[in-house]
Amino acid sequence: MPDNRTNNNHSLSKSLYVKGLQCHKSLWLHKNKPELKDKVSVTQQATFSTGTDVGILAQQLFPGGVLVPFEELSYEDQISMTEEAIASGKRTIYEATFRFDGIFMKADILHRGKRGWELYEVKSSTGVKDVYMDDLAIQYYVITGSGLKLNRSSLVHINNKYVRNGEIDVNELFAVADLTTDIMSMQKDVAANLKAMKKMLAGKMPDIDIGPHCSDPYECAFSGHCWQHIPKHSVFDFADIGKPDPFPLYQQGIILMKDVSREELGWRQKLQLDAMKMKKVIVEEEKVKTFLDDLWYPLCFLDFETTYMTPVPLFEGTSPNKQVPFQYSLHVVDKQGKKPRHFEFLAEPGKDPRKDFLNSLLENLPADGCIVAWNQNFEISRLKELGAQFPRKQKKIAALIEHFRDLMTPFKKKDIYHRDFDGSYSIKAVLPALIPDLSYKGMPVSNGEEASIAWLSLWGETDKRKVQETRQQLLDYCCLDTLAMVKILEVMRNLTTTRA
Ligand code: SF4
Repeated sequence: MPDNRTNNNHSLSKSLYVKGLQCHKSLWLHKNKPELKDKVSVTQQATFSTGTDVGILAQQLFPGGVLVPFEELSYEDQISMTEEAIASGKRTIYEATFRFDGIFMKADILHRGKRGWELYEVKSSTGVKDVYMDDLAIQYYVITGSGLKLNRSSLVHINNKYVRNGEIDVNELFAVADLTTDIMSMQKDVAANLKAMKKMLAGKMPDIDIGPHCSDPYECAFSGHCWQHIPKHSVFDFADIGKPDPFPLYQQGIILMKDVSREELGWRQKLQLDAMKMKKVIVEEEKVKTFLDDLWYPLCFLDFETTYMTPVPLFEGTSPNKQVPFQYSLHVVDKQGKKPRHFEFLAEPGKDPRKDFLNSLLENLPADGCIVAWNQNFEISRLKELGAQFPRKQKKIAALIEHFRDLMTPFKKKDIYHRDFDGSYSIKAVLPALIPDLSYKGMPVSNGEEASIAWLSLWGETDKRKVQETRQQLLDYCCLDTLAMVKILEVMRNLTTTRA
């Protein structure tokens, strides 16, 4: 579970230790200048909450344990309560609390097994990562340093093969990786790392420049602060296949895109660079015409919103992190020059949306229409999954899939390019560059992840005004996704002479 808690300015938590491993400057800033941290995004907050929920669910692997709460007790009381639980023969302790060598930490699950105490760290990811080993290693160091012998150190993570069948079966949902041998072999490094961190913290802010470590293993919370000297159109803004590694260039003092030797660039980056000098849209007319000639009426602009990163499957027959569609927007243009008709669906929160979603879609989507999507593989994959779940609808779905055309393709191929795309072919970049009046900027829900978080936030929400407001935000966002495609297609036509 995520843990940023420390008891005072002189001690560290396990997560600060991990941050210190990533970058000493990050640790120094966390301890001395926390006000310079970037704002926590909605997605980061949701990831944090998910981690906490998964941690609580994993406690059911060892039912009947005693919880050492963080909120109601002082740090000293948490440590005392842990000691008492151990002394009184409790078999399982959730959030057991220890302090040793300046580190204050809470262990997700501490369980007394047949051969002694076992430590379990819970993560909502689907496998073991090096950074989790560091997390466990510091816990082992603190717990054993406090005088408790550990027989086993394990990581509890999500089993991505799990398929929900009725109530969640925690013994199937979670997988346990025994990392005891690795964790024990890391102990020497832990002591040395801590020594180096303490020495560093006693001094001035370390002089560490930006580098790949800023986002590996985690996006650093001080990126906004440390990267503020990097201007727009820098070597870090090269996009797409063939882009040069920006850090060696930066280390040579080459910061602006225009200062990079053309030999180091792929054709996409050369286009990105050349386009910066032009205000107009660059168009490969013949190629765009060929794309447009392949479309037919009625044009059906379609976009799905789906659940995102839900490690605990929400619905029957689904696996961890499965993307389940809960909303669509559809603009249908029957003939050239005709005003688009709009259809939409947004599932009621708290129940499986798939049946109603599919029924509504099949009712509103013209069977003979040309279905225009942005990154069609996403919608097609979701439709195939729905076909597998509702075999009677499979034939209809298969026919629809044949009708898809991907509006992203000419942008991905760079047949249409504008300097304000900044190398991207995402609709979020393309739309405001081609149609400045339409943009996702400032919308309360402005991307797919936020849409998923917003919909899931409605589960169990009793405030009717809040429900109404969030529903409207979701409808507005998804509607813009398909309206954007309608408008982008109009621009594409104006840029060529062909009319599809
Ligand atoms: S942004 Fe990079 S250099 Fe700055 S503190 Fe974070 S990891 Fe270190």
